[in-house]
Amino acid sequence: MDHVLVTGGAGYIGSHACKALKRAGFVPVTFDSLVTGWEDAVKFGPFEKGDLLDRQRLDEVFAKYQPIAVMHFAALSQVGESMSEPGLYWRNNVAGSLNLIEAAAAASCMNFVFSSTCATYGEQDNVVLDENSVQRPINAYGASKKAVEDILANFGAAFGMDHVIFRYFNVAGGDPEGEVGEHHRPETHLIPIMLEAIDGKRPALTVFGTDYDTPDGTCIRDYVHVCDLVDAHVLGLRWLLEGKGSRVFNLGTGDGFSVREVIAQSNTVTNREVPYVEGPRRPGDCTKLVSGSSRAETELGWTPTRSTMNTMIADAWRWHQTGHYDK
Ligand code: UDP
Repeated sequence: MDHVLVTGGAGYIGSHACKALKRAGFVPVTFDSLVTGWEDAVKFGPFEKGDLLDRQRLDEVFAKYQPIAVMHFAALSQVGESMSEPGLYWRNNVAGSLNLIEAAAAASCMNFVFSSTCATYGEQDNVVLDENSVQRPINAYGASKKAVEDILANFGAAFGMDHVIFRYFNVAGGDPEGEVGEHHRPETHLIPIMLEAIDGKRPALTVFGTDYDTPDGTCIRDYVHVCDLVDAHVLGLRWLLEGKGSRVFNLGTGDGFSVREVIAQSNTVTNREVPYVEGPRRPGDCTKLVSGSSRAETELGWTPTRSTMNTMIADAWRWHQTGHYDK
C-alpha cells in the first residue's frame, strides 16, 4: 500500500488528514515532534517522532517508508505569537520546511502537498481573495508560509517537484465520529476559546477589536470545516499522482462571518451564552479574509458538505464536551 508522509499528523488538521487518507486507501505515516501535537491523535497509521530541523531523522523516515508523497502540515500557526517571536516562525516554518523539501527531493519523493494560509494575502481593501490576488503578508506567520510557497516554486522549477499548495481560510469543527478533534496548547482560536468560555474553563472571551471597518466593527473570516478541508487534500494528492502538475488552491467557502456573528451562532447552536468582553485589536490581524475562488470546486471536484457555521460549531461543541486527548 502507498505511504504518504504526513508532517504534523498529531495535530488538529494533520490528524483529520490521516483519517481521510486511510479511508482513501493510503497509509499515513505521521512525522511529528509532539511540541504542539498529541500522540493520542495518531490513530490511523505509523508514528515517527521527529523534528523537521533534524535532517538525519527525516532521511531515515524517507528511507524506511519510501512515501509516494508528502503532506506538510507541521508548523507554528499563531498570528499573535509570530509577531512577538518572529525567529521561531522563520526557524520552524521556513528552515524546517526547507529541510523537509530537500529531504524529499533527495529521496526522489516529488509530490508535495503544502498547508499554506490566507494570511499570505495580508490586508487588502475589502476584496474577496482568489488565488491570483497579490500576496502581501502583514504578520510573520503569513510571511513564513509565503516563503515556503516560494521555495516550492523554485524546487518545482529546478527538480520537478510537483506541489499542490492549499491556502486555508479559518479551519473549524471536528471529526463527526469524534475520533479526533481540535485541541491546541495553548488555545488561541476563536471557536474553541468561545466553547471553553461557555463552560467556565477559561475567563470570558475577549473580542479582539471592535473598531474595524466592517458592519459590526469586528474582523470577518471565512470558516471551513476541517473534514471538508482534508477531503480537498486527498483530491490534491490524487491530482499530483495523476501528473496534473503544480497548482495553488484557496480553501474557503466564500462566506464571511464577523466575530460577533460567530458568537451569535454559537449561542443558538449550544443554547448557552458566550461570555465575552470587548478588547483592543490583536497585532497582525487583517480586517477581512474571505475566499472568492471556486477553483478547488471546479478543478479538483471539491464539494464541501459540512462547512456551514452551524455544523462547524455543533461538531466542535460535541468534541469539546466528550473528547480531549489529555483527559
Ligand atoms: N478572535 C477574538 N478573540 C479570541 C481569538 C480570536 O476576537 O480570543 C478573533 C480574531 O481577532 C480573528 C478571529 O477571531 O478576527 C479568528 O481568529 P483565530 O485566531 O481563530 O484565527 P486567525 O484568523 O488568526 O487564523
